[in-house]
Amino acid sequence: MRFTTENIKSTIQVLEQAVNEHRRWLNDWHRSLIFDQPLAKICFSKDSYRQCGFGQWYYSQSSPILKDHTVFLLIGQIHRDLHSRAFVLADKIKHYGTISTKDYDLFIAKEQDFSKKIFELRDELREILLEFDALTDVFNRQAFFRILSYEYERSSRTGQPCCICMVDLDHFKSINDTFGHMVGDRVLRDVAYELKSKLRPYDSICRYGGEEFLICLPNTKLNKAKKIVDRLRNDLSSLLIDLDSDKKLNITASFGIVKMATKISLYDNINRADEALYAAKDAGRNKVIAYEDIGSVSKNG
Ligand code: GH3
Ligand code: MG
Ligand code: MG
Repeated sequence: MRFTTENIKSTIQVLEQAVNEHRRWLNDWHRSLIFDQPLAKICFSKDSYRQCGFGQWYYSQSSPILKDHTVFLLIGQIHRDLHSRAFVLADKIKHYGTISTKDYDLFIAKEQDFSKKIFELRDELREILLEFDALTDVFNRQAFFRILSYEYERSSRTGQPCCICMVDLDHFKSINDTFGHMVGDRVLRDVAYELKSKLRPYDSICRYGGEEFLICLPNTKLNKAKKIVDRLRNDLSSLLIDLDSDKKLNITASFGIVKMATKISLYDNINRADEALYAAKDAGRNKVIAYEDIGSVSKNG
């Protein structure tokens, strides 16, 4: 599942709204206890956990980010327990006019548990946000290096092939110069989206620098990687980017591939992909060249 920063941001926002609903419920509950007012009807309902504002949000949740998330599922359980405790307290108040401090403390402990888990979930979502490049919505370098290091380790251990590809947009400066930086930014976003959407679910892509991207193709032999990347190159070259006016813009990119070698460092592998990329530029741009083929590819070929 590919998440976008927009998905995550809106998930955080609705989560915070739901927590506010929960606080409102809790405030009303305390208000009734402190001022000796009758508790709301919902407090005596067995499924108050579904009827309260938070419950209504929780049980209508279809966000792919949350649905199967372990902490989210745990929150549902704690929230349900919290409401059962509130029900027991409401029942005792109704019958005896009071509750014990022990009962109250148990309720509060559950409530603290609930808040703690909500914050844990929110912080985790915020951390995921930090892994993305703000402009293009693909991974940033830091997150990507974590993925790449994992693949490097895996390749060293299992011998499974993995390829790295460096992408650099062709003559991108002229787009900025002709149409301005705002259009340049739009092109970067559209290109990133195009590349990301054409990759397989287990591939990853990051924005490596200004108009450079790095792709990791796990469990992929060099020949297969060349085919995948050449398809990316071809699709990108036929992509028409809408400008604000009725004009459409065409862009190409050059691609350098390397089969990850575990005898050299990750850093050296990336340098090899970079070397291949420069060979692709030298060969006339809008080309895919593998590090392993440098030398055997004639210029402008
Ligand atoms: P080449 O085909 O050799 O790669 O030429 P190029 O023009 O793409 O490469 P060059 O390195 O000369 O220019 C890259 C440009 O990318 C220059 C820089 O202003 C622009 N750039 C870098 N980051 C951003 C960004 O975030 N937004 C925009 N709009 N432009 C950016
Ligand atoms: Mg560049
Ligand atoms: Mg460039």
